[in-house]
Amino acid sequence: MTRRKKVLVLGSTGSIGTQTLDVARKHPERLQIVGLAAGRRASDLLAQAREFGVHALALGDGQADAEGLRTQAASSDDGFFGMGERAVIDLIDASGCDVVVNSLVGAQGLRASYETLAAGKVLALANKESLVVGGDLIMPLAHAADPTYPRMGDDAEFRPRGALLPIDSEHGAIFQCLLGENASEVDRLWVTASGGPFRGKTRDQLVGVTPAQALAHPTWNMGAKITIDSSTLMNKGLEVIEAHHLFGAPYDSIEVVVQPQSAIHSMVEFADGSVKAHLGTTDMRIPIQFALSYPERWDSPVARMDFRTLGSLDFAAPDMDTFRCLALARQAGGRGGTLPCAMNAANEVAVAAFLEGECPYLGIADCVEAVMDEHDVQAVESIEQLVEVDARSRDAARDFISNL
Ligand code: MG
Repeated sequence: MTRRKKVLVLGSTGSIGTQTLDVARKHPERLQIVGLAAGRRASDLLAQAREFGVHALALGDGQADAEGLRTQAASSDDGFFGMGERAVIDLIDASGCDVVVNSLVGAQGLRASYETLAAGKVLALANKESLVVGGDLIMPLAHAADPTYPRMGDDAEFRPRGALLPIDSEHGAIFQCLLGENASEVDRLWVTASGGPFRGKTRDQLVGVTPAQALAHPTWNMGAKITIDSSTLMNKGLEVIEAHHLFGAPYDSIEVVVQPQSAIHSMVEFADGSVKAHLGTTDMRIPIQFALSYPERWDSPVARMDFRTLGSLDFAAPDMDTFRCLALARQAGGRGGTLPCAMNAANEVAVAAFLEGECPYLGIADCVEAVMDEHDVQAVESIEQLVEVDARSRDAARDFISNL
């Protein structure tokens, strides 16, 4: 029997985390869960730890009741339990993992991504904010860990060793379309978007949108933050920046196209005009499993796509006037430096405020724009600098929202 991959799941009680455990459940001979971290759902985390026999555990929220988790960790000689953000990072070393699935929510995931690569472990990345905010720090580490990982334009075959593997469905799709191709022969990356629940609506029609309406995503089943981001198209903006970093792609070579059925997960266009697309059912367990099985493919229990009943595939340009977050994110990415960090922080605050009923739906883009306008852009130098920019931008966003 080949050695099992030892997997640490950060954000294990969230949408990607629970689906990662579902993949592990189907492949016990290939995957061993060795560490789990959650935010505050202590009882869910304990149930996972018991099911998978895990004794390296962390809870990001230091306020939660953790007696059961402490006992679970103490029942093994090499058990570990900690609380708070630092404990989540300590788990990377303490769990003895080979692979870290980073499905933390928001900018807090950056440090975990950084420490994973710095420790020489494989990063299976669902936390796109890591690259949006800190791509300038993360990608040099990924390239150092895997010198065979080409950037778009390099005269080299795209077949990374696999130090950094994207879980985001679009980037997983682009990664698969690029495999075996020469990176110098890639012309454009086509990132597909479902368009969200408000596709085709005008700005006037979006004035009174409620959280419940925005949380009803038509095709993908995801957590609250990303579902709101999908409805504003900010998620697609973040993904454009993510693609820029992951594949070393210039911004003018990354196109966004609305594909409402979400059957095409993204496409790559080559020098001769040929286009490769990645299709499949909208089940996140496919990209999660590929990030864990790479370079192999394993059996999967997900429903198969039946092209006889798929019907039509529609395409449209995104409406960037109505969904301004996509334009703002492109602007932030193009300018670069610390601006994407400021943009992302403002968006996180505005989305949280919207979910709490404290910010109108269209106020999300207004808040992001105001914080970006105020931001003094610098080159990215360190995580500490980004943490500071993030905190300052959150303050600016809260100020903006309290004055609405
Ligand atoms: Mg995505």
